[in-house]
Amino acid sequence: MTIHQSEPQLMQDELEIVRAREAERGLAVPSARMPRPRLRAEAPPTPQPVPRPVPLPVPPVAGHRFLIYKQDPSVAELGARITFVPSVVLNGPADARIITDLPGVTPVAKGVNGDFVFTPNSPQFDAAHTFAVVRETLSMYERINGGNPIPFAWNVGGNTDRITVKPHAGQGANAFYSRTGKSLNFLSFVPQNQTQTLFTCRSLDIVSHETGHSVLDGLKPGWLAGGNPPQTGGLHEAFGDLSAVFLALAQADQAEAVVALSRANLHDRSFLPELAEQFGKALGMPFGLRNADNDLKLSQVSNEVHAISQVFTGAIYDILADIYVFELNRQRKTKDLAVILMEVADGLAHLLFQAILAAPATKATFVDVANKMLQVSASRHDPPIYRTFIRNRFAVREITLSPTPMRELMAGRMTMTDPEYTEDGRDVTEVQVHDEHSASLRAEQDRSMCCGTMQMPEYLVIDPERLAQRGDLTDEDILRHEMDELHRAFTK
Ligand SMILES: [Zn+2]
Repeated sequence: MTIHQSEPQLMQDELEIVRAREAERGLAVPSARMPRPRLRAEAPPTPQPVPRPVPLPVPPVAGHRFLIYKQDPSVAELGARITFVPSVVLNGPADARIITDLPGVTPVAKGVNGDFVFTPNSPQFDAAHTFAVVRETLSMYERINGGNPIPFAWNVGGNTDRITVKPHAGQGANAFYSRTGKSLNFLSFVPQNQTQTLFTCRSLDIVSHETGHSVLDGLKPGWLAGGNPPQTGGLHEAFGDLSAVFLALAQADQAEAVVALSRANLHDRSFLPELAEQFGKALGMPFGLRNADNDLKLSQVSNEVHAISQVFTGAIYDILADIYVFELNRQRKTKDLAVILMEVADGLAHLLFQAILAAPATKATFVDVANKMLQVSASRHDPPIYRTFIRNRFAVREITLSPTPMRELMAGRMTMTDPEYTEDGRDVTEVQVHDEHSASLRAEQDRSMCCGTMQMPEYLVIDPERLAQRGDLTDEDILRHEMDELHRAFTK
């Protein structure tokens, strides 16, 4: 592979333009931390070939650099940075699974170096940024899936249709995944008392949240239906939010920033648990649109799906923080703290993914996923204290009953360093539901506060069993109930 001699200069020029424009707008594009491209072209500029006794190995990875916001425009600690997408991406951007659609702008052509580096907040940047974050989220789940592709809900019977990413899908303070449209849609709006438009596509959290919906709809196509218990809807919203947390911790610069900002305490304040920061601030919410580091219990949330989701997200976030404390104690003298955090998050993401795969195809509840997490954790030989963390955190949230009194946890005296710790010596892998009469299990789903995905009408009217069959959704599917009623009325 040869690289054009003038590439470093071209790249620097692009970055200087980016910095100048951002400085004008008061946005920080960190220059000291912006990784300078290290290219072989940095060798002395001599036309003579340099004798090399041993050939260099050719890099085996084809890919492209993208400029993206690593959290969103308001998280200045990370700003806009280049990221490497290690797969073939065509002009669009488009690849085998994803295509970008921004009328009048796409297909966006790669730069001379094959990179998608554009001035932040330009339409080309929005297309490239959104594609890159969708790609990185999908790639993260493919890695977790053993390197195997994850079908979208319509990828059955040899269908390989891609998902269409629409960075400027219209006006509104929302974003949504649509199975019927085979698309991810990101809207924009002018927040109250402000003049600048806020684009949801520029938030890594929002883009990975919506991509998470599309991934989970591929894995568990029955879960989106409104006919499921509210907790099933809560699992969908939580999976979206947790996709954003896990994607952040799959990236070394983000993990290092979390460790530094929080002093390696995940319950200290950082951008990690704060989801959709810019969006939240625009709505007057200082901790982001949602906060994964919350203390909500099931008894506090009734049947409102978005609130219910935060109970599950909060439990998983607490488990992440607990395992991190345990592994810090065990490994910090031999391993970097950010590396430990990335490994802990990766391990927990695998555990949650496997538990979801093993959960029921429809009507899945939090206790179903909790029990599968306990069983998968035992089968992969995690230390027993991992299961103690899982049991405790779901019990504190009033999702499950605890087999122990949890006295040491509630007194703040729980041992965090003994891998065998269970409180009473029993490593239980099946726990019971806390309250089977909870509205979160019994009532109709109230999706009024959810993201746009959960408000799509097709998911509310189609039976969970029909949705669980995968494949295309037709207008006939969506209108079936109404057509049946009309048929009965007209044949009287
Ligand atoms: Zn959502």
